[in-house]
Amino acid sequence: MFPRRSLHLYRRLPSSSIVPLSSRTMSTKTYVLPFDPTAPQATAQADPAKLWPAAFAGGDVKAPKTATSRVFFNADGNGSIASLSSLGEGFANKKENERREAVRRAVGSAVKAVKDLPETKEVEVDATVDAHAAAVAAHLAQYKFSLKTPDSRFNPNLKEPIPEKLKFTPSEGSKEWERGAVYAKAQNMARTWMELPANMCTPTIFCEQVKEAFSGLKNVEVIVRDEAWAEEKGMRTFLSVTHGTSEPAKFLEIHYKGASGDAKPLVFVGKGITFDSGGISLKPGNGMKLMRGDMGGAATVVATAWAIATLGLPINLNTLTPLTENMPGPSATKPGDVIYAMNGKSVEVDNTDAEGRLVLADAIYYGATEYKPHTLIDVATLTGAMDIALGEVYAGVFSDSDKTWEDLNVAGEIEYDRFWRMPLSEEFGPQIYSSNADLQNTGGRPGGSCTAALFLKAFAEGSTGDKPTMAWAHIDIAGVMEYTRGCPYMEKGMTGRGVRGLVEYATRLKV
Ligand SMILES: [Zn+2]
Repeated sequence: MFPRRSLHLYRRLPSSSIVPLSSRTMSTKTYVLPFDPTAPQATAQADPAKLWPAAFAGGDVKAPKTATSRVFFNADGNGSIASLSSLGEGFANKKENERREAVRRAVGSAVKAVKDLPETKEVEVDATVDAHAAAVAAHLAQYKFSLKTPDSRFNPNLKEPIPEKLKFTPSEGSKEWERGAVYAKAQNMARTWMELPANMCTPTIFCEQVKEAFSGLKNVEVIVRDEAWAEEKGMRTFLSVTHGTSEPAKFLEIHYKGASGDAKPLVFVGKGITFDSGGISLKPGNGMKLMRGDMGGAATVVATAWAIATLGLPINLNTLTPLTENMPGPSATKPGDVIYAMNGKSVEVDNTDAEGRLVLADAIYYGATEYKPHTLIDVATLTGAMDIALGEVYAGVFSDSDKTWEDLNVAGEIEYDRFWRMPLSEEFGPQIYSSNADLQNTGGRPGGSCTAALFLKAFAEGSTGDKPTMAWAHIDIAGVMEYTRGCPYMEKGMTGRGVRGLVEYATRLKV
């Protein structure tokens, strides 16, 4: 509960300590101050025990819920702005992961409360409770994607890049703060790629932007392959998706060497459909623009790779993304067409809108056989059924490897970028094995995410049998790709979910 004495203090609080909006002076600094309502600590800028009750004049002063924020002007008499935010009742007794999330929510909502104030530019965040979580929340909360002029960062007429409006500093500098900032910047990077309209993020443009993002990073090589290369490799299921569009497809590889040359790599594969119309099995028009985000898997793994390289983690990582539009052009693949995948299996395309598994099939097989990783993780906005099952809360993980699942689960809980284990079972097999080909690319509505995962398993070479040579996990982010309501530290829109969980997973890898 909020301490009783604060009520007493409120009665004696001089009214001049809170300056109304109209007489605000130009402030030099904004302070983001998360506080524990059970034991509020005064800082040099503000004393929550005094200020908080004053914001609720005449009302009950109860322990405010987590992420309840109020903004105070000139609370220190020097013209500064203090954005106070509650860590919630019982904060001191919360378990680690819950504490971290309370810090994110409190800091995020405090930043949101001030980020649009014209005076707020330099923001000092009280990061004493958890510097990593505070940095994550501050950087995620300030993010807003806009193509409106004159402030759009993507306006081709821009002469100079537009800097971020807010400049954050922690109350005291630390490695943890820096790391948290990298996690969040990577997630924001993925959000931007997912938000960008398809005409502004074609496979070609995406590759150019990735090259730019990685330029200057150590031990990194970015390779952009074209369709001729994919043809040479026999990536026929990937290429089958490219036939309906005149936009050239790309196969992007990012190689990062943070460990010795002979250490087995981790491989990420990300689905990169830069626009998914459904192809000949055309989607309904309503809400189709959301399908600009169907390269969310690619955005997620590339942004994760950027964070891993920026942090200089001691692992080897190869990131692979097949990139194409899925369009209903005159040469488009038709329902019923049968394609022989790179691994020789025949695939009947029952529905051209189930194209994600087609581009992933060859990419997963190529990643497994070319790089012989210890673990291969693919990330994809794969099935609408995933959204039905787990909504915007959890990303579904399908894996035969208990260890990989457990590692992902631990990492996801630490970052509150949560995963839920889904069944990867041969029992779903008859739904996708019953056509005239080895595999069919749809298995009907029942268990739609599970049949998609089982389809991919056929290409994860080395992940099955008594002695698997590679662990494989498939992450379906179709549900978490977009927040329709937002959360205390994120606006609604494309989320970049999966990035922080995967960076944390890589950080904790012991190879
Ligand atoms: Zn589709």
